[in-house]
Amino acid sequence: MSDLDIKKRIGVLTSGGDAPGMNAALRAIVRHAVHLGAEVFFIKEGYIGLVQGGDHICPAAWEDVSDMLQRGGTKIGAARSKEFKEESGQLKAALNLLEHGIDRLIVIGGDGSLTGAQVLFSNWPTLVEKLTNDNRISKEIAGKHPHLSIIGLIGSIDNDVYGSDLTIGVDTALRRILDAVDAINSTASSHQRTFVVEVMGNKCGYLALMSALMTGADWVLIPENPPRDSAGGTPWEDRMCEDIKTGRKAGRRAAIVIMAEGATNADGQKITSSYIKDTLEKKLDEDVRVTILGHVQRGGSPSAYDRNMSTILGYNAAEKILSGVIEKPMVIGLRGNIVTYTEITEALDVTREISEALKNKEYDRALNARGEHMKNIYNITHTLFKSKPNTPPKKNRFNFAVLHCGTQAPGMNTAVRVLVRLALDQGHRIFGIRDGFNGLITNDPNSRSSSKIIEMDWMKVNGWASVGGAELGTNLQVPKTPEDFQKIAQNLAKFNINGLVMIGGWNGYQTAFDLFTRQGLFKEFRIPIVCVPATISNRLPGTEVSIGADTALNNIVEAVDKIKQSAVGLKRCFVTEVGGRYCGYLALMSGLATGAERVYLPEYPFSLKTIQEDLDFLVSEFREGRKVASIIKNENSHASYNTIFLTTLLDQESKGFFDARPSILGHLQEGGSPSPFDRILATRLASAALDFLLKYAGSDGPFCAFLGINGRRITENNLNAFPAMVDTKFERPLNPWWLKFQDIVIKLACKPKDS
Ligand code: ADP
Repeated sequence: MSDLDIKKRIGVLTSGGDAPGMNAALRAIVRHAVHLGAEVFFIKEGYIGLVQGGDHICPAAWEDVSDMLQRGGTKIGAARSKEFKEESGQLKAALNLLEHGIDRLIVIGGDGSLTGAQVLFSNWPTLVEKLTNDNRISKEIAGKHPHLSIIGLIGSIDNDVYGSDLTIGVDTALRRILDAVDAINSTASSHQRTFVVEVMGNKCGYLALMSALMTGADWVLIPENPPRDSAGGTPWEDRMCEDIKTGRKAGRRAAIVIMAEGATNADGQKITSSYIKDTLEKKLDEDVRVTILGHVQRGGSPSAYDRNMSTILGYNAAEKILSGVIEKPMVIGLRGNIVTYTEITEALDVTREISEALKNKEYDRALNARGEHMKNIYNITHTLFKSKPNTPPKKNRFNFAVLHCGTQAPGMNTAVRVLVRLALDQGHRIFGIRDGFNGLITNDPNSRSSSKIIEMDWMKVNGWASVGGAELGTNLQVPKTPEDFQKIAQNLAKFNINGLVMIGGWNGYQTAFDLFTRQGLFKEFRIPIVCVPATISNRLPGTEVSIGADTALNNIVEAVDKIKQSAVGLKRCFVTEVGGRYCGYLALMSGLATGAERVYLPEYPFSLKTIQEDLDFLVSEFREGRKVASIIKNENSHASYNTIFLTTLLDQESKGFFDARPSILGHLQEGGSPSPFDRILATRLASAALDFLLKYAGSDGPFCAFLGINGRRITENNLNAFPAMVDTKFERPLNPWWLKFQDIVIKLACKPKDS
């Protein structure tokens, strides 16, 4: 065999603590490498396997990564190796790699694992030289592999390593925490009990802070910002107990303190959950329960976000490492939905800087180094904790209103809660409008009582963080006639509304635009109006994601997992119809997360020819032994060929190699409590909506905008730009960022014929 015939080889290992999503990354690496004509070797049990070699290093075939996307943990084992830290261990590791002809390595793990990768890279020339001098490898082999290319994927549920907005496993861990704390909340409310919940995070308070925000907890303890005594000398323990007591008096039935396992006091001494429990029991004179969530947080099926992020990173890592020599080891990450590369040394330096800051008790430095996002969330969370707002200022007090429009989206309530509390805390009044624009149209402006427009107070939104649906009510009705607009103007005038927030979907945007264009007719519309994107279909312009889309995606993914499982022992193709109107986001991203063979999107309407090609593909796959196939179909991917027609056709024309079954998910997709991602998104957008109102209220408008999240930042677009940013016929944004992933779905699900 000539050198040209030898395929490029990649070694891949998972190391340190396991994290949900690692399997999705492995699948993407192996399958994309097969497409690129390379070979992947699994190195089992992390660096232990690399040092021991033998059966620990084995070729990974396409089929070895089947049925893996939905599985937590890591299929190839993740372990810790002391021996690898020594030169003797690294010599064995290098020898094993060279014996397999591998000089490309992908490491999936935390900061320890990435440190190990960097060390191996730096020592590689010396190790190769020693192995050559000891005659353990030939000069020829040494000459062929002078350099070790390394790419790292960060697998860490703590989000404690720099280089990616979220590290693999974080979103799933947040889901586990959220489910547990939501459950604890319900029992704690029943008995008016206080709970201390300890979550993971030794040097990083990300999980604790985000879960406190998402669940409406009363107190949080994180390593980056230890509790401090007040300026007047009140010990923090007394402040904590006082806050919980006032919360109770204000009507909070449950009290929850969330702490990171690495929480310390300002002197750097560890605070234990039992210390918090004893303190609370003594000062509140009641039983306090402690729940330490432990490894529950690490386990279970990965969330849609973790599956998709890991897939995208694994896919790109395989491509990058096969594209040429990687001069310096890189960490691949996703920042604002864009794949980025950071040198491992830089990622480790920033990570270490935070550890150093914590060790030196420089807590502000530590929190700053975590970035703006975490700092903002910290500040918002501390406002939400309060049991009543600050005293209203006497001047510059505005009246704001909030309403929904469109179909309900999980996270709408979270957004209203944040908006109401932040507005009240700054001394403003805020009104909730029931039933969307219908409420503004039907509320009688001449009546003294008002059934549709209600003033919101602090405790009215208590508990809304975790409730799905829309407590204020929402519907699709929008103003059409001049009388409708007149009524809206009268109601805005009656309550002297200085700014309006619409949290909803397409119709809401359209209506906000209609009000905006009538500002010449009605002076009441000359106020800041801001739209916050909330729709499960994710079909709004100016934002990469909308509130509710992640929850819907997870609902679909869980359903598809179950549907696929039901086919055990049968040869079956499922056609699952998902929502999205004329936007293929849910179909495509659920196809990516569940490993669908095909996704049918409204952006690329299919034809009879497509069906014939896909049928031929399925017949040949099932003939060769495939057991299950899955097609995810958007509800409007074809004007006439609906899901039942398509399924019947596949079933009848399958030549007996498989049968086909339809599944129309319907309203299941909209339900349930909002996912962590949606709760965090809702919080950020609601806070930005208030900032927008405060920037323009009382000034000489008109200022009307729709908000979004783009890259890592919240952005605002003038409502004027709305028509130019959308496809009005299909009511969806132009050029969505996610359409490019269709290629990945197909590639990772379909083995190349010549492999
Ligand atoms: P994580 O990757 O989750 O942070 P660890 O810190 O336990 O987990 O590191 C995993 C493994 O990485 C260790 O068991 C060891 O084999 C390797 N490793 C960590 N630090 C070094 C180092 N300085 N030199 C060589 N290998 C290291």
